[in-house]
This record gives sequence, C-alpha cells and structure tokens, in this order.
Amino acid sequence: MDTQSGKIGVTTENIFPIIKKFLYSDHEIFLRELVSNAVDATQKMKTLASVGEYKGELGDLTIRVSAEPEKRILKITDRGVGMTAEEVEKYINQIAFSGAEEFMQKYRNQTGIIGHFGLGFYSAFMVADKVEIVTRSYREGAKTVRWTCEGTPEYTMTELDEEHDRGTDIILYIAEDSKEFAEKERVLSLLRKYCRFLPIPIAFGKEQEWKDGKYVDTDKDRIINDTNPIWVRKPADLTEADYEKFYEELYPMTDKPLFHIHLNIDYPFHLTGVLYFPKIRNNFEIQKNKIQLYSNQVFVSDSVEGIVPEFLTLLHGVIDSPDIPLNVSRSYLQSDSNVKKISGYITRKVADRLQEIFSNDREEFERKWDDLKIFIQYGIVTDEKFAEKAADFVLVKNTEDKYFTLGEYENLVKGNQTDKNNNIVCLYTNDPQEQYGFVDAARSKGYDVLVMDGQLDAHFIGWCENRNSNMRFVRVDSDVVDKLIDKQENRSMTLSSIQQDVLRPVFEAQLPSNDKVSYAVSFEPMDENQQPVVITRNEYMRRMKDMSAMGGGMYSFYGQLPDSYNVVVNGNHPLVIEALDQVKEKMGEQLDLLNGKLDSIGSEKRMIDDKLKDKPEEISEDDKKLQTDLDNKYESILTDRNTQLKEAGKGNKLVKQLIDLALLSNGMLKGEDLTRFIRRSVELIEK
Ligand code: ADP
Ligand code: MG
Repeated sequence: MDTQSGKIGVTTENIFPIIKKFLYSDHEIFLRELVSNAVDATQKMKTLASVGEYKGELGDLTIRVSAEPEKRILKITDRGVGMTAEEVEKYINQIAFSGAEEFMQKYRNQTGIIGHFGLGFYSAFMVADKVEIVTRSYREGAKTVRWTCEGTPEYTMTELDEEHDRGTDIILYIAEDSKEFAEKERVLSLLRKYCRFLPIPIAFGKEQEWKDGKYVDTDKDRIINDTNPIWVRKPADLTEADYEKFYEELYPMTDKPLFHIHLNIDYPFHLTGVLYFPKIRNNFEIQKNKIQLYSNQVFVSDSVEGIVPEFLTLLHGVIDSPDIPLNVSRSYLQSDSNVKKISGYITRKVADRLQEIFSNDREEFERKWDDLKIFIQYGIVTDEKFAEKAADFVLVKNTEDKYFTLGEYENLVKGNQTDKNNNIVCLYTNDPQEQYGFVDAARSKGYDVLVMDGQLDAHFIGWCENRNSNMRFVRVDSDVVDKLIDKQENRSMTLSSIQQDVLRPVFEAQLPSNDKVSYAVSFEPMDENQQPVVITRNEYMRRMKDMSAMGGGMYSFYGQLPDSYNVVVNGNHPLVIEALDQVKEKMGEQLDLLNGKLDSIGSEKRMIDDKLKDKPEEISEDDKKLQTDLDNKYESILTDRNTQLKEAGKGNKLVKQLIDLALLSNGMLKGEDLTRFIRRSVELIEK
C-alpha cells in the first residue's frame, strides 16, 4: 500500500458529553471559570486604557452576578472588553483557542490574567442546558452580538441592533439536575469560596438591613470579595495588626498565630503569599493542610498536599501563584517542575525567616519556642534541606527553662559531661515530674538535664546523634548517676563479692513478679548518700521498645521482649549492709557452714585446674572425672544455699521496703503492692 497521510477526524458531536462528565470532577467550578473570564475581560480593559489603546471612560467595572431560582437562570455580567462577532467565532466557537494566551503574548508583562487553557467557558455546559452570550466589544462602532448554544455542536450567532452596554452577559439556563446552581444561598457560598479575593469587585444582590422585624434589601450592592487582599500588598504598607486580622478572617475562632512570612517572588516563577506559624496544640494532625492555594487571586484548593513539603503543611495562610497549574489533577501537580521549585523555595524562605527572628529577637524566639518546637523538629527530621539551615537555630531546653542552640549546649556541658571515649553525653528527661529523683541526682552531681517531652523529641534525638557522632543522649533513669556518664571513676565498695553473692538471691526473692517485666539485680559502688536501691532502664533497650511501640517494623522483635529493668543495689549504703547483717543473723551458722563448704570445694577445684592447666595433653580420665565431680558438688551446694537465702529473704521487710521505695520513686509501685507498702511503712514507723 502507498504511504498515506492525513488528518485524524474528530467528531465534535462527542465533545459535549465529555465536557459534561470529565472536564472537571467538581461541577461547581464552572462559576469560578465564568467569573474569572469576566475578571480577565475587565483586566484587559484596564490594560488597554493604561497603555492608551482605549481612550473612553472605564466607568464602573463591577462584575454582577444574579440568580433567578424560579427560572433557573444564572447571569454573570461584566464591563470588560466584550467580543466582536469575529472574536466570538474565534474564541468561543473554536474550543480550546484561548484569547487569554494571545493577549498575554501581546502584552507580555501585564500579569493578572487567569485563563490560559481555552476550556473554562465550556465548563458552563456541565450545569446548563443552554448558554447565551450577549456581548459588545469596546471597539468603536462594534455591534452587539448574541450567541446561543444548547449543548450540541450547533450554535446560533446574530448581530443585534439593540443598544448594549460595553462588555458581556453570560446567561446560563441551568439544567434541572443542577438547579442548586440557581439558588441564591448556593451561589453566594460558591462566590465566597472561589472569588473571595478576586481583584475586581463582584456584586451579588444587595446589602441587607433589619427593618420592621425582617431583613430587607438596601440599595447598596453586596460586594462579596476583598479586591486587595493582604498578600498582594507591600509588606512595608502593612502592620502586624493587618496580618493578624487577615489570619482571623481566614481561620475564625483560632489562637493568634506566632509569626508570619510574606512571600514575594518574581523569578524563576511568580509566587506571592502570606504564611503563618500557627499555635500548634497537642494534636497536630488536625492542624495540617490549612493553606489555601490561589492562582491570580482565584481560589484553587485548600489542600497543598504535594505542593509544599509535608512539614510545611502545618503552616497556615495563602499561596498564590499563576504558575501552579489550575485545571489538572493532583498527581500531575506533584510531578510538575514548577511545583517542585515552589516547594524548595518556600522551604528556604521559611528557614530564612526563622533564622531572622532568631538572630534579631532571640528573646521573642525563646518565648515562642515551646509552640514552634514541634514544627521545627518536624521539618528537621523530614526535610534535609531545612535541617541544614535549622541546625543553627533549633533550641533545646533544660530543666531550669533555659534555652540553648545545639552549639551552645555542647559548649556548656562538654567540660563536665564528656565520657572516657570522648563523647559528649547529654542527659535528658521526658518527664521531669516522674523522673524527679533521677533529675535531682544528676543535677547534684553537677550535670545539666534537658527536657525532651515533645512528640518528636525521640526522632530529634536520633537526628542530633546522627549529625554529630560525638554527641550521645542518655535518659536520666537509664542508669545510676555515677554510670550515666562513664568517666571511669573507681570508687570502692563496702560489700565484697562474696557478700554480693549472698545478698543477690535475697533481693531476687523480693522482686515483683510480672510476666511482662524482667528485673536484673546488680551491685554498684555508689555514694552512700545516694539511694540504697535505684531502678534503671537501659537506654538502648528502651529506645528499641519505643520504636516498636510506634510501629517500626524492623523493631517488632523488641516489642515481644519483656520490659527489662536493672535493680541497682548501692553496695555502700548502710541500709544495704544492715540487710546483709539481718540475713546472716536469720540463717545463723547454716550460712557460714554452706559458705565454708563452697569455699573449700572452690579452692580444691582451683588447685586442680591450675595443676592441669600447664599440661593439657597429660590430663587423665580420672582427672577429668574429679573435675566434673567437684563442679557438680559446687553447683548443688550453691543451689541449696541460694534456695535457703531466698527463703530467708522472702520475709525480710527491710529488703522489700528498699525495693518498693525504688519502684515508688519511678512511679512503678501500684495497686495492691502500693497498699502493702504503705501498711508496712506504718508498721515500721510504729516500731
Ligand atoms: P481561557 O479563559 O482559558 O482563555 P475560556 O474558555 O475560559 O478560556 O475562554 C475562552 C476565551 O473566550 C477567552 O480567552 C476570551 O477571549 C473569551 N471570553 C470568555 N469570556 C469572556 C468575557 N466575559 N468577556 C470577553 N471575552 C471572553
Ligand atoms: Mg477562562
């Protein structure tokens, strides 16, 4: 076959059903499109006048919208440029031929034109059976043109002799199934939603007043928009109160914002806007996604998901950019390169503004820190670019309510809180009340303690440690104070290792029994002025547990382990020594006897071990048997002794009391155990 070329035929018959169904998922936006066209026509008129191409009077440029529910008519009237018959032919009859595009080409630097797709007008057919245009161009001698179309490719166009004001009437004969769009309340709410900040006054009905027991129309137009919203004005002309008032207008009944940022950029894209840092309450999910998106002052969306980075969705306010595509789906938006640039730019601006407040008014910054904290931490842990900048102004707060940058804090603690491996150890509490005992112990040792009680502090700590490999965060209750920062100080212990072995089963006998919690008893050479018993929880294990609780898949293994705590016994505390004495007394000679046996078997075994150690090749079967026998004997006496110690320990009120005090100081003594503790305490006092 010969090569053939040609044009693919498109039957226009098919276009209306497609428009009706698929052009926009949201039918209500037809009003936004038609009013935008009226605004565009008016803006063009102003441009022509300003460049001297139009010499007549502009007159009142108010756009008027009216609804007649009984007749199902909606009408939009402007006093813009209007259209000649040729222009209607060109811009209306040829779908997707946008006059806005052409105008923009010609008057390049005149921004403020909304349309550029050439499909907006036809969105009227999503809600109307019939659309009528009556228009007269501003051009001298232009005739009035009437165009009608009933949602089929046929239209009629006639030139009329009758007089008509300059500009255009768009008259919609609303379809039965869309009659809501001729209802006054519905139209008003749509105008308020989409047209609230359009730059040309839009009148819908009249202002009302209360008269003789009811509302009646006055003769004053009801203007539904603010033509000069704050974000299109110059920051120099605005006061703090103006910004606050605008915030109140956007989000009535909310707390005052903390700060605002006025955005204004011309290159490489156009963007204006005002963003606010809201006061974030406990639940930040509900504060998300409150930024309103505009394009040339036309409302586009109140969801900026995908347009700004996740953490910035916590901000409130308005972003206006003609470069954000209006009429496309969200997934397209997210991959749009302009949108990506915008997102990067806003992130930078927000960081710069915070830096500026921090540098210029540190006091103010600190005063608002507690409210800003979650926002900044959210940015830091989710956005590397932001984190880079925020590293200079992110603050930490200590238990005395003093604020520090990370650099300042490092300098503050590095003298006293550097461990033997040269790590700077930052101590923190996530609950100063509940961990008071630990905080107090750390502070009396001259350590500083940070308060890390926010929702994102755990992630923030992870970020800090990643960023600075010399920095380590340790919660105050993760070890006894002497070991929180391992400086290899050697303190001696009153209890010998044999005495520790005797006391261990006694303490074990008195630990609370609970499947979900495991305890390990250890002895430490603590200061005798510190608590006799302290219960700690290993930092690493606790973090892993926390991660698994937050649903981290790779940590789920840790979630299944019991919570493990260390019961640290102060080997220098007089009460611990006294407990040992009590146990010795209770067991009497029996203990000495058993210990004596253990001692002699132990030394016998050591002798043999030493003898055989040097010549392993000469060990006989008999030697091996002797070793095993001694081992078994030792084991069995040890088990026997420990069982007896546990028996003796069970009744020991002092040990029980010491353990309960430690549990109590961690808030871990509850229910029946707490009641028993109180009863026992009373008994002990009565003695
Ligand atoms: P767009 O606004 O994207 O250009 P539309 O389908 O909304 O596409 O409009 C097509 C064209 O019709 C406009 O560019 C403009 O030239 C013309 N037009 C529409 N409405 C009016 C109006 N009210 N006054 C003058 N011209 C209009
Ligand atoms: Mg348009």
